Amino acid sequence: MHVTPIGGPAGAVTARVPAKVNLQLSVGPRGPDGYHELVTVFHAVSLFDEVTVRAADRTSVTVTGEGGQAVPLGPANLAVRAAAALARAIGRRGRSAAGVRIEIRKRIPVAAGLAGGSADAAAALVACNELWRAGLSLQELRDIGAQIGSDVPFALIGGTAVGQGRGERLTRALASGSYHWVLAFGASGLATPDVYAACDRLRAMRSAASGGAGDGEPGPPELNTELMAALRSGDPAAVGPLLTNDLQAAALSLQPVLRQALAAGREHGALGAMVSGSGPTCAFLAAGAAQARELAVAITGAGVCRAVVQVNGPATGACLVDGRRRQ
Ligand code: ATP
Repeated sequence: MHVTPIGGPAGAVTARVPAKVNLQLSVGPRGPDGYHELVTVFHAVSLFDEVTVRAADRTSVTVTGEGGQAVPLGPANLAVRAAAALARAIGRRGRSAAGVRIEIRKRIPVAAGLAGGSADAAAALVACNELWRAGLSLQELRDIGAQIGSDVPFALIGGTAVGQGRGERLTRALASGSYHWVLAFGASGLATPDVYAACDRLRAMRSAASGGAGDGEPGPPELNTELMAALRSGDPAAVGPLLTNDLQAAALSLQPVLRQALAAGREHGALGAMVSGSGPTCAFLAAGAAQARELAVAITGAGVCRAVVQVNGPATGACLVDGRRRQ
């Protein structure tokens, strides 16, 4: 299929995409391919990146906003990879047919455990699908997204969803209610592979300490059915104590100062406090908007985080801004 662009070089399409936190992140043993099998509960929150695309003779990318200087500007950029994968899938070949100028405006911090890079890939898929009038379905975009990164399919659907495999096999969760969160950003990022490596080291040490009795060895990851019931009830007080993250100990071993942020949140009424994904962002669940404001002030006061923001979940997945093309 080849699709002719409409709108010319001045036509621009913008998509906005949310960050995610993991309400459960269960990490199985490291497989022979080096990857860990996961069971996770993704939850999209109202912290958004925006990606604008325009037809161009050749592909380029600019990144502004939060942590933009740390984002690669070449073919390694996940939005660039997503646009190229979509172009291939719909048969747009050649530099100018597949060329696209990509502008990324970041609010999601980089290497923060919030899947900002995957979010940008998802936004690029949605925006280019519109720019090129490709008409791919959400399922088709999800399939392309899964080739770019295991968090991309979730950034496309948003809401609350269970992820399996590497996180790319998704089932929407029956969740109700809305949740008030405080996110505290770390002073510096954490590379996801480093956090998994630290997790493996901690497990090996525990296993050795138990005399090889297998105490450090995890079994296959399983979905927490209590958490799913709490999400169905829509009660944040039930959800808070059930938040779990198998990577938290590893993230804390690499950035011990995060313990102080988690403690400050718990002391000041957070219903749940955890490291988000591979960290270092810490996520705190509050009983309501007023409690979230108080929590944000208290965590800021602890002085161990670079910035603190209030967000809500669940947020919708990647979508066009204004639902239409902008000139
Ligand atoms: P994960 O999805 O593994 O949890 P993360 O949320 O911790 O990742 P990201 O912000 O997605 O971290 O960035 C991970 C790495 O991806 C960065 O260090 C950066 O080099 C690379 N990257 C590529 N493209 C992008 C992008 N558009 N935005 C942010 N990072 C990108």
